[in-house]
Amino acid sequence: KRSRRGSILFGPVNLEDHEGAFAANYDRGNGIVDGIEGTIGNTPLIKLRSLSEATGCTILAKAEFLNGAGGSPKDRVALNMIQVAEEQGLLSPGRGDTIYEGTVGSTGISLAVLARARGYKAHICMPDDMAIEKSDLLHHLGATVERVPVAPITDPGHFVNLARTRAKEHTAASDTPSRGFFADQFESLANYTAHMKTTGPEIHAQTAGRLDAFVAGAGTGGTIAGVAKHLKEERGLGEEVRVVLADPQGSGLYNKVRHGVMYSPTEREGTRRRTQVDTMVEGIGINRVTENFEAGRGLVDDAVKVTDEQACRMARWLVEHDGVFVGSSSAVNCVAAVVTALKMPSDSRVVTILCDSGSRHLSKFWKHIAAMGLEDETREQDEDLLAVLG
Ligand code: PMP
Repeated sequence: KRSRRGSILFGPVNLEDHEGAFAANYDRGNGIVDGIEGTIGNTPLIKLRSLSEATGCTILAKAEFLNGAGGSPKDRVALNMIQVAEEQGLLSPGRGDTIYEGTVGSTGISLAVLARARGYKAHICMPDDMAIEKSDLLHHLGATVERVPVAPITDPGHFVNLARTRAKEHTAASDTPSRGFFADQFESLANYTAHMKTTGPEIHAQTAGRLDAFVAGAGTGGTIAGVAKHLKEERGLGEEVRVVLADPQGSGLYNKVRHGVMYSPTEREGTRRRTQVDTMVEGIGINRVTENFEAGRGLVDDAVKVTDEQACRMARWLVEHDGVFVGSSSAVNCVAAVVTALKMPSDSRVVTILCDSGSRHLSKFWKHIAAMGLEDETREQDEDLLAVLG
């Protein structure tokens, strides 16, 4: 049954429930926030009407693209990594420090914004096959950007290794007190704890603890680990909430979750030769187990593999039916949320994440969707979601 348009499903979020430091940035009375940091977190949970109707469940998507600094869940992570580093004296605004990071884009954008707001410089290393609008944006934010050829993680030229090296070089060469700080989102536990302290509690408050599944992809694994830890461990929901990994084609995590190994024997050779995850999707899918993913691995109950074609069709479907314009990782999450919902009793509640806006993906993902001819199809032709996803 269709709910009333725009109705509030679960009532307003009780900010008092938020354990995160971010709540301190809100003035609860009048909506005034203290700096750009105050626009991070407390994102709405959107009921996706078309997906809910098609599955007979309630599909709720956390609108993380509304985080106001960099427009993705990485705002939470970037703020937490900076705050932790400041507490440890690794970053200090008056010293002219530079934040270095290896990122496919979102974390770099969040760090570049927060660096500006707090008096740092940002130096971002990213693979050169990511959508150009991300590096353009970084330039406009005043960050130094190095786009490097795609390389295996064992290669010193891999974007993460390069960022680590650049930070060391900065500190070693500096004849002033200025330091280079390597944020290290893949291995730093300040990543998943940001989601454990904010994203997880918000989801719990918004659903009044009544959710049956949480579905998310993993780039660093911070989101899925942090939310799973909060819901299953801190809130004691355990088996009551199913945590499902949404994994794009070519990523090794699906096999890790389902079979305990990164590659199936038949995939092994081919996958190893490839230097990166073989998908058009940006931001999720990885062929190694990071510290952040490891932190939540025992809490991930299942995984769903999503093809690029399914992701493209879902992205198009969401615009057509819900007016929701998102990027590739959000589309993967929504496909996996639908697959998960269909395996659950009707009326189950499934929560997932809308990571970033489609406008970050115009030159690649959305160009591909247009080239597939999906934008020419009329609504009548794609009325059946399950047929559309195949
Ligand atoms: N979506 C996008 C667009 C991203 O950039 C990222 C992070 N790389 C993710 C999803 C995945 O989040 P996490 O790193 O927490 O696993």
